[in-house]
Amino acid sequence: MHDVIVIGAGPVGLACAIEADRAGLQARVIEKGALVNSIVGYPANMEFFSTPELIEIGGYPFPVQGYKPTREEAIEYYRGVTEREKIDARLYESVLAVAGERGDFVVTTSRAEHRARHIVVATGFFDRANLLDVPGETLPKVTHYYKEPFAYVRQKVVVVGARNSAAKAALDCYRHGAEVTLVVRGPALSDKIKYWIKPDLENRIKEGSIRAWFSTAIEEIRERSVVIRTPDGVAEIDNDWVIAMTGYHPDFELLESIGIQFAEDRYRTPIFDQTTFETTRPGVYLAGTVCGGYRTGRWFIENGRFHARQIVKHITGLRAEPIPFEAIHWKTEE
Ligand SMILES: Cc1cc2nc3c(=O)[nH]c(=O)nc-3n(C[C@H](O)[C@H](O)[C@H](O)COP(=O)(O)OP(=O)(O)OC[C@H]3O[C@@H](n4cnc5c(N)ncnc54)[C@H](O)[C@@H]3O)c2cc1C
Repeated sequence: MHDVIVIGAGPVGLACAIEADRAGLQARVIEKGALVNSIVGYPANMEFFSTPELIEIGGYPFPVQGYKPTREEAIEYYRGVTEREKIDARLYESVLAVAGERGDFVVTTSRAEHRARHIVVATGFFDRANLLDVPGETLPKVTHYYKEPFAYVRQKVVVVGARNSAAKAALDCYRHGAEVTLVVRGPALSDKIKYWIKPDLENRIKEGSIRAWFSTAIEEIRERSVVIRTPDGVAEIDNDWVIAMTGYHPDFELLESIGIQFAEDRYRTPIFDQTTFETTRPGVYLAGTVCGGYRTGRWFIENGRFHARQIVKHITGLRAEPIPFEAIHWKTEE
């Protein structure tokens, strides 16, 4: 019987385990993939938009080579903290169901059954892509996860999306020899693209190095082409690969099966106490980016790591103060 089982070994799940341990609670983390699986899935050499001190956990300093951490530095940092804290993390083990009640939960996973007095759900959003929902989306040439440009040299690549991830993928592929077409559903690039990336992409579009279709939807993906609906009608463009950077969302089925309830808003925001992070199922807490529902830019590592202390204070019976406004209302969007 553990005091706490944390579902998900992302930065926030790890922060919860550290906080629990420091409060004298026995915590176990159960992770369906690798340690910090979402960050492992980010593009190679990706630079975080946060400076390192803002994504530290457990008070461990995060030294980096440059001004901002790279994906590789972050993975190593969180691994180092996990080792140093001797976090009991079970990897490549998916949580399938949570039965029981506060004080005696039974967590069924792909490998075993675990028992715990409290559950923290820190499952993030990165392993559920927002689909285009068009014919051909399951072809092997389509991906929702951009890794690196080298497979696309001299290839015709369609990048779908208007935000940071799409902008970065389009520029990266273009700079490594791909013929890039950007397809954007709205009339313009997102204002939320980072200020150091947006002018670069705008200028590449202006000079014709990257072709861009605005107010355009993908209608169908075929073996050698993509059918698009533009403001001027339907067109078919030659294509080898599609990189759909259309965002991600939490695993709502898992959350529902755990008994999480949702607000009736367009974001499917999970219902939880804003100070303690306890959900309407007593003893079950939410932490990190999963708290935002479809609003995946609402919470991130910078503000999500503070959830750990709130939750552990509640579990140990200490009164938690509300999280400072500036820590939680700092909006961004990836
Ligand atoms: C490209 C990109 C760049 C980003 N850059 C920044 C940044 O610079 N600064 C910042 O603060 N934030 C950034 N974010 C946002 C934030 O980093 C991530 O969303 C962060 O990983 C969130 O941490 P988390 O612990 O809440 O969730 P995650 O890191 O997503 O962790 C959730 C974990 O739960 C696991 N899991 C899911 N379901 C199950 C299950 N059923 N059983 C067991 N395990 C499960 C997943 O495999 C995953 O490892 C970025 C996000 C993206 C996509």
